[in-house]
Amino acid sequence: MGEVKKERILEILDGYDKENITIATLGSHTSLHILNGAKEEGFRTAIVCEKGREVPYERFGVADEFIMVDQFKDIVNEEVQEKLRAMNAIVVPHGSFVAYAGLDNVEDKFNVPMFGNRDILRWEAERDLERKLLVNGNVRIPMKYDKPEDIDRAVMVKFPGARGGRGYFVASSFEEFNSKIEAMKARGWIEDEDVEQAHIEEYVSGCNYCIHYFYSALDDEVELMGMDSRYESSIDGFVRMPAKDQLDIDISPSYVVTGNHPVVIRESLLTQVFDIGDKLVKSAAELVKPGLNGPFCMQTLVNDNLEVVVFETSARTDGGTNTFMEGSAYTYLKYGSGMSMGRRVAREIKNGIERDELEKIIT
Ligand code: ADP
Repeated sequence: MGEVKKERILEILDGYDKENITIATLGSHTSLHILNGAKEEGFRTAIVCEKGREVPYERFGVADEFIMVDQFKDIVNEEVQEKLRAMNAIVVPHGSFVAYAGLDNVEDKFNVPMFGNRDILRWEAERDLERKLLVNGNVRIPMKYDKPEDIDRAVMVKFPGARGGRGYFVASSFEEFNSKIEAMKARGWIEDEDVEQAHIEEYVSGCNYCIHYFYSALDDEVELMGMDSRYESSIDGFVRMPAKDQLDIDISPSYVVTGNHPVVIRESLLTQVFDIGDKLVKSAAELVKPGLNGPFCMQTLVNDNLEVVVFETSARTDGGTNTFMEGSAYTYLKYGSGMSMGRRVAREIKNGIERDELEKIIT
């Protein structure tokens, strides 16, 4: 657990004017629908914006206040924190917030109330912890190889840190592993020290579904919010080339996320979808008290045995939630139209204020 203590955050929250809460986030990733959703639920909104990146936020008009910074990581500077507290801000974290502010800073220095469980962010960022969460929850994940010498079938090789799939590759033998490592090093995509930390797992041949959930700690319920599949470069461009040419040009595809497609899953798979969501919530409650809180995502591949195999999770708003700023097929079933993930977060904060239970959802 970090230096930022829940008691301190609750003291700050105690001093807030609950009639005038501002929902704030860092201008990147999923901030457009986080702020748009907050406005729809009647909150004021603020954006911490890096100079030079303000255009989308100005043009879409989602923020009432702009706090301009030279660099994203300045969001943890004392003066920025003061500005946020002065506007009774509750910060909604997302992938870029964690990446730019830095986990240590979020845990040790960022004395601004945040929506969700601050302590769980490390669990999704570090592969071993993430794996522990999934294994403890008995969720189906790809088989892991301890060393490259053991490779006996197609495997996916990954490196530390979320890097949008950069440097990842597929190999089927120890020899192929070695030659691809050399190719990635030559490209400058991986360093020697990454090689020791290479994570090798079974290649799951199947279709990609990134499943977006919201766990309401107030109502103790896991909601299915939406699904996307990734649009990745260069692999998704590469497959448009005739197979004969793919063989000829001999390039290794990469998996850098450039966008997302909305998708729905076969209805008969929804039982599994709810089951894995419930399992992760239970596992997190056991391992990282108080557990998940708010948005989380399971990145899955569905194979032709119709197994939903989870290769990655995130414990905050995932980038793919941008596919349903106006609601998804699944939020339509529960809420009618217009429920984005950002709006669902704001709704939870609103419910927390109304029920005087904010302390359950803020850290
Ligand atoms: P990052 O989190 O760094 O973006 P991911 O772990 O999401 O990387 O992986 C990037 C892409 O690689 C995925 O979107 C998926 O297409 C593919 N992938 C990841 N793991 C596997 C696997 N075990 N089998 C097959 N494909 C995989």
